[in-house]
Amino acid sequence: MKSIRDFDIDNKKVLIRCDFNVPIKDGVITDDTRIVGALDTINYAIDKGAKVILFSHLGRIKEEADLEKNDLKIVSTRLSELLNKKVTFVPSTRGKELEEKINNMNSGDVLLFQNTRYEDLDGKKESSNDSELGKYWASLGDYFINDAFGTIHRAHASNVGIASNMEGRCGFGFLVEKELNALSILDNPERPFVVILGGAKVEDKIGVIKNLVTKADKILIGGGMAYTFLKASGKEIGESLLDEGNIDFCKDILNSYNDKIVLPIDTVVADVTDEGVSNIKTVDFDSIGSTDKGVDVGEKTVELFEDILKDAKTVIWNGPLGMYEHEELIKGTNEVLSYLVNNNIKTVLGGGDVVAAAELCGLKDKVFHASTGGGATLEYLEGKELPGIVSIK
Ligand code: AMP
Repeated sequence: MKSIRDFDIDNKKVLIRCDFNVPIKDGVITDDTRIVGALDTINYAIDKGAKVILFSHLGRIKEEADLEKNDLKIVSTRLSELLNKKVTFVPSTRGKELEEKINNMNSGDVLLFQNTRYEDLDGKKESSNDSELGKYWASLGDYFINDAFGTIHRAHASNVGIASNMEGRCGFGFLVEKELNALSILDNPERPFVVILGGAKVEDKIGVIKNLVTKADKILIGGGMAYTFLKASGKEIGESLLDEGNIDFCKDILNSYNDKIVLPIDTVVADVTDEGVSNIKTVDFDSIGSTDKGVDVGEKTVELFEDILKDAKTVIWNGPLGMYEHEELIKGTNEVLSYLVNNNIKTVLGGGDVVAAAELCGLKDKVFHASTGGGATLEYLEGKELPGIVSIK
């Protein structure tokens, strides 16, 4: 796996695909985590004397009206503040101005060009990996560094398109490298290797279940999808989330991997409405009421999970164990997460909601790795080959 460290980039034009897809409200960046996250790679390139050419997508561009609100200029201003250095912004994705500004760059200069998805307005050139566009962007640099993990599962012109035109001259940035190193513990995990799966629907996690069930020593299932597994095992679940169409899938998994799958033995039930959470109680599945709705794992389940986790050497966790967005219902997720952190168990949080839950619990920075990739992480956990990785490897 090539990294930016493997190239002599002094005085060379280095194209760096960043993920600057930051939330913006009323013309203000509301969370600059992604820009801050890119600084290590950018500063490294500056320190090594590269001419640093940055680009990223921002939002989605479907029509003219999307252009203004997804103008990347706002990022160049914030980036310049964070780097304490001038960042030249070029408001186009191709053409004379861009080429001239790049040709006039000195060693250590930083340039950011316009949102790559501006190219989507004209036939989705970026998102459909238009071959001319990838070739054109590749022609602007000597090396290509992909540091945008969030889009690594997509074959776009700004990652796969460029890489396929720069064979032997591309590598990953530090952010992608860190993600891949952490997620690669899946390839040869120290055992016992325990997977925790939660989240809403079975449907969304079929690929992950199929892939991880063959690798893990135990799979602990919580969250909304546990109830379909429980139903499949013959338990009553009241009015908890049920994924009717996947009961048979759950039955098959339970039959084939009976020794690996661990289901909740009790559940928190409550009424959840826009006004809030009420009537919270914990019940066993043989005493669950016909109108009860399961919203979090119960205390006995937490103890059961902890008992299995006490021997674990590696844990991968995707999906929260309850409706964590409500502070009353984050308890199960918080307790299991705290247990992992307090016992120094090597834990990788795989994407999206479980990372958000960990942040709310103040534990995100205490786990071995919290993967930020969303769709990319999920596809990695499904065992899929990700185009952005393949194109560089
Ligand atoms: P996912 O994106 O699949 O990881 O799902 C995350 C969502 O699952 C969150 O919005 C949680 O509120 C939801 N979730 C977790 N537990 C339950 C539950 N028992 N019933 C319904 N939704 C749940």
